[in-house]
Amino acid sequence: MSCLCSDDDPVKARQALIETSVVRVIHDESHFMVAIESCLFCRRLWLKVFAEEIDWSGGNDPQEVYWIPITEQESEHVVASDESIVTASTGKRVLWSNFAKDADAPTLRWVNGPVGIPPHD
Ligand SMILES: [Zn+2]
Repeated sequence: MSCLCSDDDPVKARQALIETSVVRVIHDESHFMVAIESCLFCRRLWLKVFAEEIDWSGGNDPQEVYWIPITEQESEHVVASDESIVTASTGKRVLWSNFAKDADAPTLRWVNGPVGIPPHD
């Protein structure tokens, strides 16, 4: 049986991934964060990439988050570069959360990698 974190419904998958166990923080800035996290239910490793842009005109700050499933071996080589994120996400099904500045809630979707680092401040 597969875990909720890999559910075809991206809303359910995100629910499982909102609270995780942080294995390793790779990069930590207020508007750009990269970390290896593990699912609390199945221990699967996820590479989480968070990026935020400051919206100076008011409203929400646009945010994007990717959760990329990775192996333990892959997790050891990931760094906070676009190239590294692209490599880690190639051929993967990636959970994408896009919180646009004028939206009330994030849009959640499974997308096919590769993905890169979203724009951020
Ligand atoms: Zn899981």
